[in-house]
Amino acid sequence: MVETRRDVTTEAEADNTLTARVKHLARPLGVGSVMAVAAVPAGLEPWQAIVGYAAFAAGLLAWPSGKAAKQSRAAGQSDKVAQTDFAVVEALDLPTVVFDADTLVLRQNAAARSLVGAYPERASLSARIRSPAILDLVARVMARGVPESVEHAERVPSERWHEVRVAPVAGNPVSGSQLYVLTFRDLTEARRMDRMRTDFVANASHELRTPLASLMGFIETMQGPARDDEAARIRFFAIMLDQAQRMARLIDDLLSLSRLEMRAHVAPDGQVDLGRTITHVVDSLRPMANDLGVEIQLSLPDKAVTISGDVDELIQVFSNLVENACKYGQAGKRVEVTVADTDSEGAQVTIQDFGPGIAKEHVPRLTERFYRVDVETSRTKKGTGLGLAIVKHILTRHRARLIIRSTPGEGSTFIVKFNPAE
Ligand code: ADP
Repeated sequence: MVETRRDVTTEAEADNTLTARVKHLARPLGVGSVMAVAAVPAGLEPWQAIVGYAAFAAGLLAWPSGKAAKQSRAAGQSDKVAQTDFAVVEALDLPTVVFDADTLVLRQNAAARSLVGAYPERASLSARIRSPAILDLVARVMARGVPESVEHAERVPSERWHEVRVAPVAGNPVSGSQLYVLTFRDLTEARRMDRMRTDFVANASHELRTPLASLMGFIETMQGPARDDEAARIRFFAIMLDQAQRMARLIDDLLSLSRLEMRAHVAPDGQVDLGRTITHVVDSLRPMANDLGVEIQLSLPDKAVTISGDVDELIQVFSNLVENACKYGQAGKRVEVTVADTDSEGAQVTIQDFGPGIAKEHVPRLTERFYRVDVETSRTKKGTGLGLAIVKHILTRHRARLIIRSTPGEGSTFIVKFNPAE
């Protein structure tokens, strides 16, 4: 640890002060004796003159010692200030480095140690921070004396952005040297959110634009070349309805997501009978499954499984998962839905299909908005690419987890795990 210069009274300094005070006193005492003798003709007893003068001399002795005490108190306080300042720096979670006018690092907190590495004692700032942009910033602030910041990006080991700020410490009472504070504000999360938002808007616009372009194309065709072609018009109307429904599904899913985001921090407060909810979902999806030639097998535990949750949202979750299993796992011709509950593990719902499965590299990304293994397959199956993103949002709000296991060629298993009851 690097020591700063401190303004305290040492023992030698205290000795010197004492000698000076004694010297200081010798002269007034001499003068006092002369005055005592001189006081006799003035009608005062010599002892009265000596006592009076002794009081005066004691005042003189006390005055410099009071001043020295004040100085030493001030030194003690500034020492405390130094320690408190540094303790404050240490407590901050903002990576912070304090350095002096020679760019020697006096203090770095734990957050800075883990970001840039620990500085050896009295090391120069550039021993750990080598970015020319940051070192230029330091030089500018030292030259101009006003705070400034720059944005700093790192690509290795992972992409990170920081706002790096350097500011002079105003009225520094601790050290003779001017101090400077360098801080790193992490912008990585904000940047990631910005990028996600931009990607999301771009994706949503693209998804809407495709059916819209198709609709406009058909309208123009019917106004022009197909104006009098009755058979073509009937065919085109069917396609247009399909495209309009696709847009409606997309808008419904986008609204669903935005509503869920608004309620993300409010825990659901209803009670849901899982067995009844799943039975309802499976019953309503059976006609669709029959059309696809898929049989849904439902297995429920003997006793009712009740969890805290929002029944409409959970219906949305299980509908999405069972519908996906039927659509994408159609080739397996069978989907198994199982509800289980154990005291230690909590309730869980498993939806298993025996279709083509999902390659390993896609599995971690399936819950991203608009992520699809194959866009065309998803479109032909009336997918929007938002189903699993909605599922994930709802489950997060329910403090439940989605586990996806898949073996290409054998099928996929989607498990919804609820927390055990408290
Ligand atoms: P979509 O609207 O496209 O169905 P989802 O978010 O529900 O969007 O699913 C994302 C992608 O995950 C799908 O496009 C599909 O590629 C894949 N997927 C989801 N469920 C299954 C499944 N049971 N078997 C194979 N692939 C699946």
